[in-house]
Amino acid sequence: MMAASLPLSTVRDLFYLVAVAGFILALKGLGSPKFARRGNQLGAAAAVLAIAFTFTLPTLRHSGKNLVLALVAMVLGALVAVPVARLVKMTAMPQLVAFFNGVGGGAASLVSIIELLHLHSLGLKPAVYVTAEVLLGVLIGSVSFSGSAIAFIKLQELITGRPITYPGQQAINAVVGLAIGVLVVLALVTGNIAFVFVLLALALVLGVIFVLPIGGADVPVLISLLNSFTGLAVAASGFVLDNNLLIVAGTLVGASGIILTRLMSGAMGRSLPNILFSAFGAVITATGGEAGDASRSVRTGTPEDVGVLLAYARKVVIIPGYGLAVAQAQHTVRELADALTARGVEVFYAIHPVAGRMPGHMNVLLAEANVPYEELKEMDEANPEMSTADVALVVGANDTVNPAAITTPGSPIYGMPIVHADEAENVIFLKRSMRPGFAGIDNELLYDPKTTLLFGDAKDTLAKLVAAVKDA
Ligand code: NDP
Repeated sequence: MMAASLPLSTVRDLFYLVAVAGFILALKGLGSPKFARRGNQLGAAAAVLAIAFTFTLPTLRHSGKNLVLALVAMVLGALVAVPVARLVKMTAMPQLVAFFNGVGGGAASLVSIIELLHLHSLGLKPAVYVTAEVLLGVLIGSVSFSGSAIAFIKLQELITGRPITYPGQQAINAVVGLAIGVLVVLALVTGNIAFVFVLLALALVLGVIFVLPIGGADVPVLISLLNSFTGLAVAASGFVLDNNLLIVAGTLVGASGIILTRLMSGAMGRSLPNILFSAFGAVITATGGEAGDASRSVRTGTPEDVGVLLAYARKVVIIPGYGLAVAQAQHTVRELADALTARGVEVFYAIHPVAGRMPGHMNVLLAEANVPYEELKEMDEANPEMSTADVALVVGANDTVNPAAITTPGSPIYGMPIVHADEAENVIFLKRSMRPGFAGIDNELLYDPKTTLLFGDAKDTLAKLVAAVKDA
């Protein structure tokens, strides 16, 4: 009854408000592995609600052409996004995020510019503040679009993942930056739309030259930052369209993106300016570097021996890393943990915040295998217990347990907090070779007398360990 007496725009705003509350609760849910799935579903439901009420806007209701265009765009988008999201491998998730993020930034930029064209076609000269909003949307959205595109092709290894530098780089950056500043002023003062198009082109160039010198392990941090940019571009386009939902949703993405960026750089022991503006990544390879020091000996073991060690241990700490994701060994590691728990062994997982190749990578993998949440301990919670563990079982992790982060100033990972596998009585590494991890550096712990290496694909080795534990 009440809804019937309210103007449609008010009803729409009320439902937008409900959607915004849904987005906020979704973000809260995504903050913990236990509620992440529910948070995600809630966010999706809120987005559906928001989209549904967007169809009540006069521009869609009163124009059959607009309605058809919107529906066609949605169908095309779904046709591309659904299979891509379903088929993508967990290890390729950062590329997928870069792809979706870039498209979002590009869309925000286009929306801003099209709105400006629309105003001009009506013979209206936009107010300075409207032009300013358009410029913000175009600038940030375009940087995010082209920057994400470069990040995508780097992560996909279509070009080198290393930082790309070239002569005169600083000068080119300065000229592009200055030209953008001048164009913004000219566009604001004259309102001439031609300046906005030149700005669009230069912003695309800026995105490329901003991202090219960033390489290796820094790219996922960069994607998180670009994600934040896309949020801000969407918020700017929300101002242009006078749409509160876009303003709030964009700001939420912008704020959460920057928080995530800071968390990631903190977990890598680096400052954000250092990640963005230093040539740090130059010493990093994207897919692992040289094999370890061949002149030094390591101790290798058999799954049978290690199985016995695990079966008769009191406390076993499993430290998963990127190799767990590569091997898709999350189910098998859980089987091993279950077999040990059934024998009365205390087992928990120590989760490093940047283990894997994206934030929360290990949590997502282990949740997929239904590992009980109480068995997951964050690094800070796990570390005080490491010295009481009989076995640290390192499954496809390397940098995140490398003591060089503490002992070797000048190492690319120096300053990064690590999981103290080295404090356990025995350390077992499951890996395929002596190749290093993402940072491309040797790991002293591999040569430690208390370390045993089990070479092979993590999933195969874990399956053998399960059998050995059951036989012990
Ligand atoms: P690492 O990349 O350091 O090491 C992965 C290990 O897994 C390697 O030693 C590799 O050795 C092994 N491995 C690979 N495939 C398999 C397989 N199929 N079976 C068994 N072992 C395998 O991983 P970590 O998780 O310890 O560290 C993550 C790194 O990524 C850090 O440097 C972090 O800074 C970086 N990073 C992480 C981000 C995040 O958000 N999570 C973002 C940005 C960077 P081998 O080849 O011999 O098998």
